[in-house]
Amino acid sequence: MSQTKLLWELENHNKLLDKYIKKLKIFKDDPDLRRIILRHKQLEEELSNHKDKDIKIKQRLKEKEKTLKNYIFNMDELDKKLYNNQMTDFKQLDYLIQEKEKFKQAISDLEVEIINLLDDTEFIEKEINQLADELDKINKKVVEYEKRKSVNIDKINAIIKEEENKIIDLIQVIEPNIMDKYNLIKGTKNSAVAQILNGICSGCNMVIPAYIVDEVNSKRDLVKCENCGRILFVNK
Ligand SMILES: [Zn+2]
Repeated sequence: MSQTKLLWELENHNKLLDKYIKKLKIFKDDPDLRRIILRHKQLEEELSNHKDKDIKIKQRLKEKEKTLKNYIFNMDELDKKLYNNQMTDFKQLDYLIQEKEKFKQAISDLEVEIINLLDDTEFIEKEINQLADELDKINKKVVEYEKRKSVNIDKINAIIKEEENKIIDLIQVIEPNIMDKYNLIKGTKNSAVAQILNGICSGCNMVIPAYIVDEVNSKRDLVKCENCGRILFVNK
């Protein structure tokens, strides 16, 4: 195999290597997975807030129910006093009736509050269930994604290793001075070798004069494109 043919092969394997290294980076970054993980975090926070709220509502409910019990007990006590028929003091009787009315109103208000709190917990429990469901689905999605990601990364790493080995093999059979020239051009351009296709340089798309094409075909030395400076190669 001619040295220019080897350089051309090297160039192509370098391009493939770059392509797969870029691909690997995209897979590792994985914006889709990042988005899912962010949503997961948000849901966890929402769920935790809802649970806190639920606990607070239930505490208030407990307190209200305790107060209601006390009020009912007090009213029963008042009833006993009122209806034991031993009450002779009208002033005292009037006072007890007024007290009873106050408790009645307070009990009625408390009952409304308790119903509202029960509605609130029912609503929040429903929301907690929905959030937990969504979180569960996202958990499964994350696991699936991570698995797929790791399979893809393994595949790409295998290709990268393969390309690196091919490059090492090629470098060993390319003459060192030619390799130096290649590296020098590669350092300034993203590609160092161009193919002449239908008399046109694949690096810069300029027409290559016929005498240059002849030189590439006949000479053992490297011939560069007069326009872009890339090493020219003709596939024979
Ligand atoms: Zn060129």
